[in-house]
Amino acid sequence: MALDRKAPNDLNAFWMPFTANRQFKKNPRMFVAAKDMHYTTSDGRQVLDGTAGLWCCNAGHCRPKITEAIQKQAAELDYAPAFQMGHPVAFELANRIIDIAPKGIEHVFYTNSGSESVETALKLAIAYHRAKGQASRTRLIGRERGYHGVNFGGISVGGIVNNRRHFGSLLSGVDHLPHTHLPDQNRWSKGQPEHGANLADDLERLVALHGAETIAAVIVEPVAGSTGVILPPKGYLERLRAITKKHGILLIFDEVITGFGRLGAPFAAQYFDVLPDMMTTAKGLTNGVIPMGAVLTTADVHDAFMDGPEHMIELFHGYTYSGNPIASAAGIATLETYREEGLFERAAEIAPYWQEALHSLRDSRHVIDVRNMGLIGAVELDPIAGEPTKRAFSAFLAAYDKNILIRTTGDIIAMSPPLMISRAQIDTLIGTLADVLAKLE
Ligand code: PMP
Repeated sequence: MALDRKAPNDLNAFWMPFTANRQFKKNPRMFVAAKDMHYTTSDGRQVLDGTAGLWCCNAGHCRPKITEAIQKQAAELDYAPAFQMGHPVAFELANRIIDIAPKGIEHVFYTNSGSESVETALKLAIAYHRAKGQASRTRLIGRERGYHGVNFGGISVGGIVNNRRHFGSLLSGVDHLPHTHLPDQNRWSKGQPEHGANLADDLERLVALHGAETIAAVIVEPVAGSTGVILPPKGYLERLRAITKKHGILLIFDEVITGFGRLGAPFAAQYFDVLPDMMTTAKGLTNGVIPMGAVLTTADVHDAFMDGPEHMIELFHGYTYSGNPIASAAGIATLETYREEGLFERAAEIAPYWQEALHSLRDSRHVIDVRNMGLIGAVELDPIAGEPTKRAFSAFLAAYDKNILIRTTGDIIAMSPPLMISRAQIDTLIGTLADVLAKLE
Protein backbone atom coordinates (compact mmCIF):
# COMPACT_ATOMS: atom_id res chain seq x y z
CA MET A 1 0.00 0.00 0.00
CA ALA A 2 1.47 3.33 -1.03
CA LEU A 3 1.96 5.85 1.77
CA ASP A 4 0.25 9.15 1.11
CA ARG A 5 2.38 11.54 3.11
CA LYS A 6 -0.04 14.41 2.69
CA ALA A 7 -3.35 12.76 3.59
CA PRO A 8 -3.60 9.36 5.23
CA ASN A 9 -7.14 8.16 4.54
CA ASP A 10 -7.83 6.76 7.99
CA LEU A 11 -6.82 8.50 11.19
CA ASN A 12 -8.47 6.02 13.49
CA ALA A 13 -5.68 3.59 14.35
CA PHE A 14 -3.18 6.04 15.83
CA TRP A 15 -4.27 6.75 19.44
CA MET A 16 -2.61 10.10 19.91
CA PRO A 17 -0.97 11.05 23.22
CA PHE A 18 -2.16 14.03 25.28
CA THR A 19 -4.79 14.75 22.60
CA ALA A 20 -8.58 14.68 22.55
CA ASN A 21 -8.54 12.17 19.67
CA ARG A 22 -12.10 12.48 18.37
CA GLN A 23 -11.98 16.26 18.43
CA PHE A 24 -8.60 16.34 16.66
CA LYS A 25 -9.59 13.85 13.98
CA LYS A 26 -12.60 15.92 12.93
CA ASN A 27 -10.26 18.76 12.08
CA PRO A 28 -6.69 17.45 11.98
CA ARG A 29 -3.61 19.65 11.96
CA MET A 30 -0.72 18.00 10.15
CA PHE A 31 2.90 18.94 9.66
CA VAL A 32 4.53 17.30 6.66
CA ALA A 33 7.96 18.95 6.56
CA ALA A 34 10.18 21.31 8.52
CA LYS A 35 13.22 23.49 7.93
CA ASP A 36 15.06 25.69 10.42
CA MET A 37 12.40 27.86 12.14
CA HIS A 38 9.36 26.64 10.19
CA TYR A 39 7.02 23.72 9.78
CA THR A 40 5.14 23.09 6.53
CA THR A 41 1.51 22.08 6.97
CA SER A 42 -0.36 19.57 4.81
CA ASP A 43 -2.16 22.50 3.17
CA GLY A 44 1.17 24.09 2.24
CA ARG A 45 1.49 26.84 4.85
CA GLN A 46 4.71 27.81 6.63
CA VAL A 47 4.20 27.85 10.40
CA LEU A 48 6.75 29.63 12.60
CA ASP A 49 7.80 27.27 15.37
CA GLY A 50 7.41 29.15 18.65
CA THR A 51 7.89 26.07 20.79
CA ALA A 52 10.85 24.15 19.29
CA GLY A 53 8.47 21.25 18.71
CA LEU A 54 7.86 20.11 22.28
CA TRP A 55 10.67 22.20 23.81
CA CYS A 56 13.21 20.01 22.05
CA CYS A 57 14.39 21.20 18.61
CA ASN A 58 16.77 23.77 20.08
CA ALA A 59 18.90 23.93 16.91
CA GLY A 60 15.89 24.30 14.60
CA HIS A 61 14.65 21.71 12.14
CA CYS A 62 16.23 19.34 9.63
CA ARG A 63 19.73 20.56 10.32
CA PRO A 64 22.06 18.99 7.71
CA LYS A 65 24.81 17.94 10.12
CA ILE A 66 22.38 15.98 12.29
CA THR A 67 20.59 14.42 9.31
CA GLU A 68 23.88 13.32 7.76
CA ALA A 69 25.21 11.89 11.02
CA ILE A 70 22.09 9.77 11.39
CA GLN A 71 22.26 8.54 7.80
CA LYS A 72 25.94 7.65 8.10
CA GLN A 73 25.58 5.88 11.43
CA ALA A 74 22.50 3.93 10.27
CA ALA A 75 24.52 2.58 7.34
CA GLU A 76 27.62 1.74 9.43
CA LEU A 77 26.52 0.32 12.80
CA ASP A 78 22.78 0.37 13.26
CA TYR A 79 22.51 -1.26 16.64
CA ALA A 80 24.76 -2.71 19.28
CA PRO A 81 23.86 -3.76 22.79
CA ALA A 82 25.18 -1.72 25.68
CA PHE A 83 24.87 -4.55 28.21
CA GLN A 84 28.37 -6.05 28.56
CA MET A 85 29.25 -4.65 25.11
CA GLY A 86 30.22 -1.23 23.91
CA HIS A 87 30.57 0.86 20.81
CA PRO A 88 32.68 4.01 20.53
CA VAL A 89 29.92 6.46 19.60
CA ALA A 90 28.11 6.22 22.96
CA PHE A 91 31.40 6.74 24.85
CA GLU A 92 32.27 9.71 22.67
CA LEU A 93 28.90 11.37 23.22
CA ALA A 94 29.18 10.86 27.00
CA ASN A 95 32.55 12.65 26.96
CA ARG A 96 31.11 15.50 24.96
CA ILE A 97 28.15 15.88 27.33
CA ILE A 98 30.52 15.99 30.30
CA ASP A 99 32.61 18.62 28.48
CA ILE A 100 29.66 21.05 28.63
CA ALA A 101 28.16 19.85 31.94
CA PRO A 102 28.73 21.72 35.21
CA LYS A 103 32.03 21.04 36.93
CA GLY A 104 31.41 18.16 39.31
CA ILE A 105 29.10 16.23 36.96
CA GLU A 106 31.16 13.34 35.61
CA HIS A 107 29.00 10.42 34.45
CA VAL A 108 26.25 9.74 31.93
CA PHE A 109 23.61 7.00 32.11
CA TYR A 110 21.62 6.74 28.86
CA THR A 111 17.86 6.41 28.57
CA ASN A 112 15.41 7.04 25.71
CA SER A 113 13.24 9.87 27.01
CA GLY A 114 12.72 12.37 29.76
CA SER A 115 10.33 10.04 31.55
CA GLU A 116 12.90 7.27 31.57
CA SER A 117 15.58 9.66 32.79
CA VAL A 118 13.36 10.54 35.73
CA GLU A 119 12.64 6.89 36.62
CA THR A 120 16.35 6.14 36.36
CA ALA A 121 17.34 9.05 38.62
CA LEU A 122 14.74 8.13 41.26
CA LYS A 123 15.91 4.51 41.28
CA LEU A 124 19.56 5.56 41.39
CA ALA A 125 18.82 7.83 44.37
CA ILE A 126 17.30 5.03 46.42
CA ALA A 127 19.98 2.52 45.43
CA TYR A 128 22.74 5.08 46.11
CA HIS A 129 21.79 5.30 49.78
CA ARG A 130 21.52 1.53 49.99
CA ALA A 131 25.01 1.18 48.54
CA LYS A 132 26.19 3.56 51.25
CA GLY A 133 24.55 1.46 53.97
CA GLN A 134 21.49 3.68 54.44
CA ALA A 135 18.70 1.49 53.14
CA SER A 136 16.11 3.40 55.17
CA ARG A 137 16.39 6.36 52.79
CA THR A 138 13.61 5.57 50.34
CA ARG A 139 11.25 8.56 50.48
CA LEU A 140 11.08 10.84 47.46
CA ILE A 141 10.07 14.47 47.39
CA GLY A 142 8.72 16.31 44.35
CA ARG A 143 6.80 19.52 44.03
CA GLU A 144 3.27 20.70 43.35
CA ARG A 145 2.84 21.51 39.66
CA GLY A 146 6.01 19.58 38.88
CA TYR A 147 6.12 17.64 35.60
CA HIS A 148 8.50 14.71 35.51
CA GLY A 149 7.14 12.67 32.63
CA VAL A 150 4.42 10.08 32.65
CA ASN A 151 5.80 6.89 34.13
CA PHE A 152 4.82 5.79 37.62
CA GLY A 153 7.74 7.36 39.46
CA GLY A 154 7.41 10.56 37.49
CA ILE A 155 3.68 11.02 38.06
CA SER A 156 4.16 10.16 41.73
CA VAL A 157 6.73 12.89 42.36
CA GLY A 158 4.98 15.08 39.80
CA GLY A 159 2.30 17.45 40.93
CA ILE A 160 -0.30 17.60 38.16
CA VAL A 161 -3.62 16.18 39.21
CA ASN A 162 -4.80 15.28 35.70
CA ASN A 163 -1.68 13.20 35.10
CA ARG A 164 -2.12 11.33 38.40
CA ARG A 165 -5.73 10.80 39.21
CA HIS A 166 -6.70 8.03 36.81
CA PHE A 167 -3.79 5.77 37.57
CA GLY A 168 -4.31 4.29 41.00
CA SER A 169 -2.29 4.61 44.14
CA LEU A 170 1.11 5.46 42.61
CA LEU A 171 4.39 5.21 44.56
CA SER A 172 4.17 5.30 48.31
CA GLY A 173 6.47 7.42 50.45
CA VAL A 174 6.25 10.55 48.30
CA ASP A 175 5.75 14.13 49.46
CA HIS A 176 5.49 17.42 47.61
CA LEU A 177 7.00 20.80 48.29
CA PRO A 178 4.87 23.84 47.42
CA HIS A 179 5.25 25.23 43.92
CA THR A 180 6.81 28.66 43.52
CA HIS A 181 4.12 30.40 41.48
CA LEU A 182 3.10 33.43 43.57
CA PRO A 183 1.04 35.63 41.25
CA ASP A 184 0.16 38.18 43.90
CA GLN A 185 3.78 38.91 44.68
CA ASN A 186 5.62 38.11 41.46
CA ARG A 187 3.26 39.14 38.64
CA TRP A 188 4.98 40.50 35.47
CA SER A 189 8.35 39.24 36.65
CA LYS A 190 11.25 39.60 34.28
CA GLY A 191 13.73 36.80 34.91
CA GLN A 192 13.88 35.43 38.44
CA PRO A 193 11.03 36.60 40.67
CA GLU A 194 11.87 38.45 43.86
CA HIS A 195 9.66 36.62 46.32
CA GLY A 196 9.44 33.04 47.50
CA ALA A 197 12.93 31.74 48.37
CA ASN A 198 11.51 30.74 51.75
CA LEU A 199 9.27 28.14 50.05
CA ALA A 200 12.36 25.89 50.01
CA ASP A 201 12.20 25.80 53.80
CA ASP A 202 9.17 23.53 53.58
CA LEU A 203 11.73 20.78 53.13
CA GLU A 204 12.72 21.27 56.77
CA ARG A 205 9.11 20.53 57.72
CA LEU A 206 9.21 17.23 55.82
CA VAL A 207 12.56 16.35 57.41
CA ALA A 208 11.09 17.07 60.85
CA LEU A 209 8.04 14.98 60.01
CA HIS A 210 9.72 11.90 58.58
CA GLY A 211 13.34 12.09 59.70
CA ALA A 212 16.17 12.80 57.29
CA GLU A 213 17.24 9.16 57.53
CA THR A 214 14.11 8.18 55.54
CA ILE A 215 14.51 10.63 52.65
CA ALA A 216 16.42 9.69 49.49
CA ALA A 217 16.01 12.64 47.15
CA VAL A 218 14.27 15.84 46.15
CA ILE A 219 13.49 16.35 42.46
CA VAL A 220 12.58 19.72 40.95
CA GLU A 221 12.60 21.37 37.56
CA PRO A 222 14.89 24.40 37.95
CA VAL A 223 12.38 26.18 35.70
CA ALA A 224 9.12 24.27 35.42
CA GLY A 225 8.04 24.25 31.77
CA SER A 226 5.05 22.04 31.13
CA THR A 227 2.93 23.51 33.92
CA GLY A 228 3.20 27.00 32.54
CA VAL A 229 6.75 28.28 33.02
CA ILE A 230 7.14 28.58 36.77
CA LEU A 231 10.36 30.29 37.71
CA PRO A 232 12.55 29.79 40.77
CA PRO A 233 12.50 32.86 43.02
CA LYS A 234 15.87 34.45 43.75
CA GLY A 235 17.75 32.33 46.28
CA TYR A 236 15.27 29.42 46.18
CA LEU A 237 17.44 26.82 44.45
CA GLU A 238 20.44 27.78 46.59
CA ARG A 239 18.35 27.23 49.70
CA LEU A 240 17.07 23.88 48.47
CA ARG A 241 20.66 22.84 47.82
CA ALA A 242 21.79 23.93 51.28
CA ILE A 243 18.98 22.07 53.06
CA THR A 244 19.36 18.87 51.03
CA LYS A 245 23.11 18.89 51.64
CA LYS A 246 22.69 19.49 55.36
CA HIS A 247 20.48 16.40 55.65
CA GLY A 248 22.32 14.09 53.25
CA ILE A 249 19.44 14.16 50.75
CA LEU A 250 20.25 13.98 47.03
CA LEU A 251 19.09 16.86 44.85
CA ILE A 252 17.94 16.03 41.33
CA PHE A 253 17.40 18.77 38.76
CA ASP A 254 15.01 17.72 36.03
CA GLU A 255 16.66 19.52 33.11
CA VAL A 256 14.67 17.86 30.35
CA ILE A 257 13.56 21.31 29.17
CA THR A 258 16.24 23.58 30.66
CA GLY A 259 19.14 21.46 29.41
CA PHE A 260 21.02 22.22 26.19
CA GLY A 261 20.83 25.95 26.04
CA ARG A 262 17.25 26.92 26.77
CA LEU A 263 18.35 29.50 29.36
CA GLY A 264 21.43 30.62 27.47
CA ALA A 265 23.80 28.35 29.41
CA PRO A 266 24.34 24.65 28.67
CA PHE A 267 22.28 23.68 31.73
CA ALA A 268 20.20 25.48 34.37
CA ALA A 269 22.68 24.24 36.98
CA GLN A 270 25.25 26.58 35.43
CA TYR A 271 22.80 29.39 34.85
CA PHE A 272 21.86 29.40 38.55
CA ASP A 273 25.29 28.23 39.72
CA VAL A 274 23.77 25.47 41.84
CA LEU A 275 25.20 21.96 41.52
CA PRO A 276 22.72 19.09 41.94
CA ASP A 277 23.75 15.45 42.50
CA MET A 278 21.96 14.33 39.37
CA MET A 279 20.43 15.95 36.30
CA THR A 280 17.81 14.35 34.09
CA THR A 281 17.97 15.27 30.41
CA ALA A 282 16.44 14.33 27.02
CA LYS A 283 14.87 16.51 24.28
CA GLY A 284 17.66 18.92 23.25
CA LEU A 285 20.27 16.17 23.68
CA THR A 286 19.50 15.01 20.13
CA ASN A 287 17.62 18.14 19.05
CA GLY A 288 14.47 16.07 19.49
CA VAL A 289 15.28 14.19 16.31
CA ILE A 290 15.88 10.72 17.76
CA PRO A 291 14.57 9.55 21.13
CA MET A 292 17.34 9.73 23.70
CA GLY A 293 17.72 10.83 27.29
CA ALA A 294 20.48 10.74 29.86
CA VAL A 295 20.94 11.03 33.60
CA LEU A 296 24.07 12.95 34.50
CA THR A 297 25.62 12.29 37.90
CA THR A 298 28.43 13.40 40.15
CA ALA A 299 31.36 11.10 40.82
CA ASP A 300 29.97 10.65 44.35
CA VAL A 301 26.75 9.07 43.05
CA HIS A 302 28.55 6.88 40.51
CA ASP A 303 31.34 5.83 42.87
CA ALA A 304 28.90 4.79 45.60
CA PHE A 305 28.02 1.89 43.30
CA MET A 306 31.52 1.16 42.06
CA ASP A 307 32.93 1.18 45.60
CA GLY A 308 29.81 -0.34 47.14
CA PRO A 309 28.92 -3.89 48.03
CA GLU A 310 29.85 -6.54 45.45
CA HIS A 311 26.21 -7.16 44.46
CA MET A 312 25.70 -3.48 43.52
CA ILE A 313 28.76 -2.92 41.34
CA GLU A 314 26.72 -3.98 38.32
CA LEU A 315 23.69 -1.69 38.19
CA PHE A 316 20.61 -3.82 37.53
CA HIS A 317 18.95 -1.20 35.40
CA GLY A 318 19.12 -0.15 31.75
CA TYR A 319 17.28 -0.17 28.46
CA THR A 320 17.67 -2.10 25.20
CA TYR A 321 18.30 1.22 23.51
CA SER A 322 20.57 2.82 26.15
CA GLY A 323 23.30 4.55 24.14
CA ASN A 324 21.85 3.42 20.81
CA PRO A 325 24.48 4.15 18.11
CA ILE A 326 22.18 6.18 15.85
CA ALA A 327 20.88 8.25 18.77
CA SER A 328 24.46 8.75 19.99
CA ALA A 329 25.57 9.92 16.55
CA ALA A 330 22.62 12.33 16.46
CA GLY A 331 23.65 13.57 19.92
CA ILE A 332 27.24 14.25 18.85
CA ALA A 333 26.10 16.09 15.72
CA THR A 334 23.61 18.09 17.80
CA LEU A 335 26.24 19.17 20.32
CA GLU A 336 28.55 20.11 17.43
CA THR A 337 25.79 22.18 15.85
CA TYR A 338 25.17 24.00 19.14
CA ARG A 339 28.89 24.72 19.49
CA GLU A 340 29.70 25.65 15.89
CA GLU A 341 26.75 28.03 15.68
CA GLY A 342 27.25 29.36 19.21
CA LEU A 343 23.58 28.73 19.87
CA PHE A 344 23.71 28.84 23.67
CA GLU A 345 25.51 32.19 23.54
CA ARG A 346 23.03 33.34 20.93
CA ALA A 347 20.13 32.46 23.23
CA ALA A 348 21.75 34.46 26.03
CA GLU A 349 22.31 37.40 23.69
CA ILE A 350 18.78 37.54 22.32
CA ALA A 351 17.07 36.83 25.68
CA PRO A 352 16.67 40.54 26.62
CA TYR A 353 14.97 41.21 23.27
CA TRP A 354 12.72 38.20 23.86
CA GLN A 355 11.89 39.51 27.31
CA GLU A 356 10.84 42.94 26.09
CA ALA A 357 8.83 41.49 23.19
CA LEU A 358 6.95 39.15 25.53
CA HIS A 359 6.25 41.86 28.08
CA SER A 360 4.81 44.07 25.32
CA LEU A 361 1.80 41.70 25.60
CA ARG A 362 1.15 42.96 29.11
CA ASP A 363 -1.58 45.30 27.88
CA SER A 364 -3.20 42.78 25.54
CA ARG A 365 -6.75 41.62 26.16
CA HIS A 366 -7.19 38.83 28.73
CA VAL A 367 -3.52 38.83 29.79
CA ILE A 368 -3.04 38.64 33.56
CA ASP A 369 0.65 37.76 33.77
CA VAL A 370 3.79 37.52 31.64
CA ARG A 371 7.02 35.87 32.76
CA ASN A 372 10.25 34.84 31.04
CA MET A 373 13.76 33.56 31.38
CA GLY A 374 16.35 32.72 28.73
CA LEU A 375 14.39 31.73 25.61
CA ILE A 376 11.31 30.57 27.45
CA GLY A 377 8.26 32.57 28.29
CA ALA A 378 4.63 32.41 29.37
CA VAL A 379 1.58 34.56 28.88
CA GLU A 380 -1.20 33.77 31.33
CA LEU A 381 -4.81 34.47 30.41
CA ASP A 382 -7.77 35.26 32.54
CA PRO A 383 -9.76 31.99 32.68
CA ILE A 384 -13.36 31.96 31.49
CA ALA A 385 -15.49 31.23 34.54
CA GLY A 386 -16.63 27.62 34.46
CA GLU A 387 -14.54 26.88 31.37
CA PRO A 388 -10.91 27.13 32.37
CA THR A 389 -8.37 26.30 29.63
CA LYS A 390 -10.85 27.10 26.84
CA ARG A 391 -9.59 30.58 26.06
CA ALA A 392 -5.94 29.59 25.84
CA PHE A 393 -6.79 26.62 23.63
CA SER A 394 -8.81 28.91 21.35
CA ALA A 395 -5.72 31.13 21.17
CA PHE A 396 -3.64 28.12 20.16
CA LEU A 397 -6.08 27.25 17.34
CA ALA A 398 -6.28 30.85 16.13
CA ALA A 399 -2.49 31.15 16.27
CA TYR A 400 -2.11 28.02 14.17
CA ASP A 401 -4.46 29.50 11.58
CA LYS A 402 -2.23 32.57 11.55
CA ASN A 403 0.88 30.44 11.03
CA ILE A 404 2.51 30.44 14.44
CA LEU A 405 2.92 27.46 16.75
CA ILE A 406 2.46 28.11 20.46
CA ARG A 407 1.63 25.73 23.31
CA THR A 408 -0.98 25.95 25.98
CA THR A 409 -1.20 24.41 29.37
CA GLY A 410 -4.34 25.28 31.27
CA ASP A 411 -4.85 29.03 30.88
CA ILE A 412 -1.21 29.65 30.08
CA ILE A 413 0.41 30.12 26.69
CA ALA A 414 4.00 28.88 26.74
CA MET A 415 6.69 29.56 24.17
CA SER A 416 10.24 28.27 23.75
CA PRO A 417 11.46 28.85 20.20
CA PRO A 418 14.52 27.24 18.66
CA LEU A 419 17.65 29.08 19.80
CA MET A 420 18.31 30.25 16.21
CA ILE A 421 15.25 32.54 16.22
CA SER A 422 15.95 36.03 14.83
CA ARG A 423 14.68 39.36 16.13
CA ALA A 424 12.39 39.67 13.11
CA GLN A 425 10.95 36.22 13.84
CA ILE A 426 10.40 37.16 17.50
CA ASP A 427 8.51 40.21 16.24
CA THR A 428 6.38 38.01 13.98
CA LEU A 429 5.67 35.51 16.75
CA ILE A 430 4.73 38.07 19.37
CA GLY A 431 2.99 40.44 16.92
CA THR A 432 0.82 37.61 15.61
CA LEU A 433 0.01 36.51 19.15
CA ALA A 434 -0.98 40.09 19.99
CA ASP A 435 -3.42 40.02 17.03
CA VAL A 436 -4.81 36.69 18.16
CA LEU A 437 -5.36 37.94 21.71
CA ALA A 438 -7.01 41.15 20.49
CA LYS A 439 -9.67 39.10 18.67
CA LEU A 440 -10.17 36.43 21.30
CA GLU A 441 -13.56 36.08 23.00
N1 PMP B 1 10.65 16.11 32.68
C1 PMP B 1 10.37 17.34 32.23
C2 PMP B 1 10.81 18.52 33.04
C3 PMP B 1 9.70 17.52 31.04
O1 PMP B 1 9.40 18.75 30.61
C4 PMP B 1 9.33 16.39 30.28
C5 PMP B 1 8.62 16.50 28.95
N2 PMP B 1 8.00 17.68 28.66
C6 PMP B 1 9.63 15.12 30.79
C7 PMP B 1 10.31 15.02 31.99
C8 PMP B 1 9.24 13.88 30.07
O2 PMP B 1 9.94 13.72 28.89
P1 PMP B 1 9.44 12.67 27.79
O3 PMP B 1 8.18 13.22 27.21
O4 PMP B 1 10.59 12.63 26.82
O5 PMP B 1 9.26 11.37 28.47
